[in-house]
Amino acid sequence: MSVYRGRFAPTPSGPLHFGSLIAALASYLDARHQQGHWLLRIEDIDPPRCPAGAADTILRQLEAFGLHWDGPVHWQHDRDGAYQAALARLEAQGLAYPCSCSRKQWRDHPIYPGWCRTGPREPDKPLAWRLRSDLGPRPIVWQDRLFGLQRFDPAALGDVVLKRKDDLWAYQLAVVVDDGAQGITDVVRGFDLLDNTPWQRQLQHALALPEPRYLHLPLILADNGQKLSKQNLAPALPEQAEAARPLLHRALVALDQAPPAALATEPASAQLDWAIAHWSPQRLQATAEKREPHAAQR
Ligand code: GLU
Repeated sequence: MSVYRGRFAPTPSGPLHFGSLIAALASYLDARHQQGHWLLRIEDIDPPRCPAGAADTILRQLEAFGLHWDGPVHWQHDRDGAYQAALARLEAQGLAYPCSCSRKQWRDHPIYPGWCRTGPREPDKPLAWRLRSDLGPRPIVWQDRLFGLQRFDPAALGDVVLKRKDDLWAYQLAVVVDDGAQGITDVVRGFDLLDNTPWQRQLQHALALPEPRYLHLPLILADNGQKLSKQNLAPALPEQAEAARPLLHRALVALDQAPPAALATEPASAQLDWAIAHWSPQRLQATAEKREPHAAQR
């Protein structure tokens, strides 16, 4: 059996918040419980969205929570050659095509209708690259470790963008190429990415990459029922080890791991030792969204 290789892959569009801690912690515990590797990948393919210093803040936050990664940090900003090679391979198979259409032109359609599949309609305009969703295996089927059997028809999801008109790489292509390059066997991440997985499996198939196992996690909602996100101004995680302790405990509660109350004041290393030994993903509830636990629920 291959050695477990997991990863945490934040986009450095701002500091980590409680929602990102859930993904970091669950992927860490799942890897360490199985004596696996846990890798860190900074998904900084979209510089305009990534303020200077955000990635460094993320590294300090992870350290404050005792979430130490294996090996060097993998940065996406210098992976241009690998993404280009993957795109060329898709193009050679007739699976990727240049597209001149703007969102405005197809706004009356639920998904992009594939108008440029036989050649860009306006070749002199800036071109994006899209993936043919109507070719390749259909439906896409896999077993999510929490949400069970998943079945999607890629054609119903549409021809996803692989490279943008402004020449930036799109998440779907970069994530698949890098999960492959880093030898990732297990992806543990938020439920919001579950419906991106069919495109990623399509790409893995087309690029002859191994298919990782997937565990999607319930999304944690703030007290007011809103999603915890940078857009909703979720508070940043602390960068000091002392302040991290109670939040780490709360994250274990949110992951249904029922940590002993007394653990909340212990250093991160002690909390993580307990959590690695006791990690049981089967305790997670298969629910798309879940309220953030109150301090009183500890
Ligand atoms: N970079 C993505 C994010 O921060 C996560 C990618 C993934 O886990 O596949 O939402």
